Amino acid sequence: NTNGGGERVNVPARERLPSMLELKGICKRYVTQSFTQVALDNVSLAFRDNEFVAILGPSGSGKTTMLNVIGGLDHFDSGDLLIDGISTKDFRDRDWDAYRNNRIGFVFQSYNLIPHQTILENVELALTLTGVGHAERRQRAREASQLSGGQMQRVAIARALINDPEIVLADEPTGALDSTTSVQVMDLLKDVARDRLVIMVTHNPELAYQYATRIVNLADGKITDDSDPFDVADATRREAKPTRKTSMSFVTALGLSARNLMTKKGRTAMTA
Ligand code: ADP
Ligand code: MG
Repeated sequence: NTNGGGERVNVPARERLPSMLELKGICKRYVTQSFTQVALDNVSLAFRDNEFVAILGPSGSGKTTMLNVIGGLDHFDSGDLLIDGISTKDFRDRDWDAYRNNRIGFVFQSYNLIPHQTILENVELALTLTGVGHAERRQRAREASQLSGGQMQRVAIARALINDPEIVLADEPTGALDSTTSVQVMDLLKDVARDRLVIMVTHNPELAYQYATRIVNLADGKITDDSDPFDVADATRREAKPTRKTSMSFVTALGLSARNLMTKKGRTAMTA
């Protein structure tokens, strides 16, 4: 992980993990009265813990379904979603809740902001279920929203970031924006992706190629192209070899990561 200052810090707990997210043969159908629609057809895809992935594909190709499956918003029929190498097959509702609340930030195209609320309340809402006290909630929301410039999508990104999630999922975040604002939002997301996994669905190949580090194409619920596939088995084999020497003692590293976290929090608010 790189902190705001660009300095490298070893976080022992994460070093061993082969991949944060992996879809294995995911299938998902929508059954209606008249017909069955296959939304995801045997999708296998692994993500690195730090990359900016753009998902491209025509309307109806399964992009939103895939994002919702990854974020634990939608259940799948078969296959498996692995989180940190662990199967979610035995996940109960409370496990999915914890996963969504603690690790995922969502940015939706429609902004998903609840009307009749102030920007502050909107940002604050993201913290209400997480046990953060009211005073700190207000404080954190104020920091995040003051700097958002009043733009709705920026508020949505601020809201997605307020818990400092490891994974940010964005469904067509620029879909309703003009090109100037789109570029601003993409700059913001690129910054967000500096130290986490960002998966963004987009209709705009130009923006995808300009900003993302990896492009995945979907068609009819299948992956048709992946510009930079991640082979978990291969990565695990390489991780297993004792090639990397930890330059800091465990205690120093822990101290640094704690401080990093503090810095990161501040910077996340700044980013927002
Ligand atoms: P995309 O985001 O790429 O436009 P979606 O994931 O939204 O595609 O949809 C994939 C397919 O699943 C489409 O054919 C769509 O019509 C269908 N679908 C999505 N959601 C539902 C639903 N709730 N009920 C029935 N069909 C659905
Ligand atoms: Mg969609």
